[in-house]
Amino acid sequence: MAKDYYQILGVQRNASAEEVKKAYRKMSKELHPDKHKGDKDVEQRFKEINEAYEVLGNPKKKQTYDQFGTASGPGGGAGFEGFQGFGNGDFSGFADIFESFFGGGAGGGGGKRKRNRGEDMEVGISLELKDLVEDAERTIEIQKMVACADCDGSGMEKGSKKITCKECSGTGQVTRQQQSFFGTIAQRFVCPDCQGAGEVPEKKCEHCGAEGRKQEKVRVNILVPAGIRDGQTLRIRGQGNAGRLGDEPGDLYVHISVRSDKRFTRDGDDIRSDTTIAVIDAILGTQIRVETVRGPVDLKIPEGTQPEQTLRLKEKGMPVAGSSRSGNHYVKIHVEIPKKLSRTEKKIMEEWRSTR
Ligand SMILES: [Zn+2]
Ligand SMILES: [Zn+2]
Repeated sequence: MAKDYYQILGVQRNASAEEVKKAYRKMSKELHPDKHKGDKDVEQRFKEINEAYEVLGNPKKKQTYDQFGTASGPGGGAGFEGFQGFGNGDFSGFADIFESFFGGGAGGGGGKRKRNRGEDMEVGISLELKDLVEDAERTIEIQKMVACADCDGSGMEKGSKKITCKECSGTGQVTRQQQSFFGTIAQRFVCPDCQGAGEVPEKKCEHCGAEGRKQEKVRVNILVPAGIRDGQTLRIRGQGNAGRLGDEPGDLYVHISVRSDKRFTRDGDDIRSDTTIAVIDAILGTQIRVETVRGPVDLKIPEGTQPEQTLRLKEKGMPVAGSSRSGNHYVKIHVEIPKKLSRTEKKIMEEWRSTR
């Protein structure tokens, strides 16, 4: 599980919707960035509680989250801890939740757009070093929200029209009286029926529950650029969940893991490996075949090669991402000294010694 939203909001797993909302409101007031200007930690926590509430405060997302541990369902890369993809300013769904609680910002189009944008998703794929010598293409299957084909994402039954929302009389906002310690407080919320649009379909599309999107298993092609490193993340725009009511889709974050290969060590863009040759080959020189990420390559062992000497295979390492260059492959040479010699060998060696 990427993030424990219950823990972030400090509520039990079986907390009621009311308890979740209460915890969120309390924390969001305490941690509001206006009160803690420039405090990055608080800012981060504020973002987290908003992210947590966006999921736990939404029955559908909460269900998915409870089942799969991510808000995006089983396609979401389970077990990818420490994921960095959302680190920078992705506050989708953040400002509008905030507005809905604090009555800030009239029900404008901006809030609606953000609320209806599809959620970002995460997946993980793993590749071999040799797959990364050139750009690689991978096809994955994920469960995600796609635009409903029956209503073209509109959420309305075909041929039906939109009517003014009864709940909010077309304003997109509703006012609720809230009893509190300080007396009765009137708060404005985004209308739950029309999500702030002010209009609702006269006849809802029954295939997607008027959401304009539904869950499907789809194939996504991912182009993995050559030379990518283990732990890097690709962002594929528009391949996350489809937005509600035909709105903009979220992005798909693809977390790359590169499987280790016991023959090689990756050292940045260079590759290192070891090989053992016979002492006679070290003395006289020879040519051997060594495995590289690009397949077997001939390596010239020069006369007089020393034990533990490193030889270079130029540009046989990993491609340097975003350039046409490549790293080198370095081979460390180990020299094997025979423990036993045949009679002939011994005779030759003795002869050699006598000439020194
Ligand atoms: Zn539909
Ligand atoms: Zn409404």
